[in-house]
Formats: sequence, C-alpha cells, structure tokens
Amino acid sequence: MKFRSYILLLLLLSVLSVGCKKVSEPSAGARINVMVSIEPMATFVEAIGAERVNVTVMVPRGANPHTYEPKPSQLRAVSRAGLYAKVGSGVEFELMWMDRIVKLNPKMRIVDSSAGIELLRVERDKEHDGHESHEGRSDPHIWTSPVNAIKMVENIYSGLVTLDPEGREVYRANKEAYVKKLKGLDGSIRALLKGKEGTRVIVYHPAWAYFASLYGLEEVSVEHDGKAPTPQGVARLVKMAKEERIRIVFTSPEFSMRAAEVIAREINGEVERISPLKREYIENIERVAEAFSKL
Ligand SMILES: [Zn+2]
Repeated sequence: MKFRSYILLLLLLSVLSVGCKKVSEPSAGARINVMVSIEPMATFVEAIGAERVNVTVMVPRGANPHTYEPKPSQLRAVSRAGLYAKVGSGVEFELMWMDRIVKLNPKMRIVDSSAGIELLRVERDKEHDGHESHEGRSDPHIWTSPVNAIKMVENIYSGLVTLDPEGREVYRANKEAYVKKLKGLDGSIRALLKGKEGTRVIVYHPAWAYFASLYGLEEVSVEHDGKAPTPQGVARLVKMAKEERIRIVFTSPEFSMRAAEVIAREINGEVERISPLKREYIENIERVAEAFSKL
C-alpha cells in the first residue's frame, strides 16, 4: 500500500513537471542524474552506477574540452542533476564553467575524481614560449593512466554511496568488477610495452603524459599550451624524429591535423589518429597502447 502510493506520487510529480516545464526527455524514474564533463567519465559512472544512474556528458563527442562552451539546454539540465563528477585536474571546461554550474544547482553534490592523484606539471617549452604566462599549470589529462582511472573510479564510487546509501552494495560490486578490469588493462599494457622504456612518442596534443610516465615512455608534443607550433618548433621536432627514426605522428580528431601532417611528410612518416576522449575507455586505451607498442 505504501509502495503503491509512492509510485502514484512519482507519477503525479512527473506529470506535473511535464505539464508545467515541458520536459522533453522521458522521466528517468528513480535514477540519479549524474553529470560529467567528458565521455570516459561517463563510462566510469555507468560502470559503477549501472541502472541506478542516468549520465549526461557536457563536452560532446568530437568537441574539445579545452575550449567547449555548454549549450543553454545543457545548463538547464544541471538543475535536474544530483551529482556532478568532475575530472578535477584543471580541464579548462571545468575551470571556466564549474562555478556557474554549481550556482545553477547549489544542492548538487560535486565529486572531485582527481582526489588523491598526483598531478604532473605541464612541460615548459622555453624556446617556444619564453613568457612565463602559464607557469605552474598542471596537466589535466589524468585519466589516460589506467592506474589513475582506478582512483577516479574509487572517488566516483564514494560520491555515489554518499548520495545514495541504499545502493551501496550494488555500487561496491560494480566498482570492484570494473577496478578488476582496469587492473587487467594495466597488466596487459605493462606486458605489451615491456622493453619499450624510453621510447619517444610524438603526439599533436599533449594528452598522454600520465600514460607515458606510467609505462616508461616519453611524450613529445607538437602543440604547447594549446598553441600550434612555430616553424622553428616544427623544425626541431622533424630533426628529433629523424634522429630517432620516428615514423608516426599521433593526432586526435578533436585537434587540427595540419601541423602533424607537415611533420609526418617531412620525416616520410604517417599520421595516426588516437583520442584520449573515447567513451569506450578500456578498449580505447588498449588500442592506443597497441599503437605505441609498434614504435
Ligand atoms: Zn587535452
């Protein structure tokens, strides 16, 4: 009887909210609306929350989280969210918008997925940019390391449990299963990249430093502080690539291909596309590791 009246109340409430606000999406029932900034985070939240959550990604597929601005409809959706799992490591989208997002829904719980993760400093390139304008900036791309991903998943898990204690057992079982998969991913990459220590990887956008430092590779980026390289910068990279017999320049669909293509042409090599932002986290990182293992 109690349960039935609860269902009736829910129905009534959803009818009312559709009636007065013209919500276009179907009612998600008792699911918790969770917002995240980037797609890999959606995978983490869904892996833990499964049917108890409804995840919305702010920066859509193919968009650049360093420059993206949310649509008004996305900002309106914030009012329905119970939780925002932010990356927390200084992704520009969050630096620019988080304060405003919090103001739109002050009751929403915020999880900092980066808690407990040691941030890397952004590599300084003095020749490229002599001005110390961004001195001390940290590298926001923490999720490219599967070991960091485990910490992020633990942080998201804690946030979900605090918000929805009834789901604790479901969340814990799901979280443990996913952490096991991430540990498996880490182990297989260690095996795959064994003996590759010190290998330099040329990437257009510097998203792979956490991955590289975990597995002993060295990331060399074409872009610095979000700026395309100068002709001298390109010349230096070409020289280095020739000396080290590097034949591949990695680029991602979110960023310009041009400079990467110029370098690839100069070294008689090719451009290969990888993305740090694919939603299918494990499969994507596996694919990137395979690509790096061929260097
Ligand atoms: Zn990036």
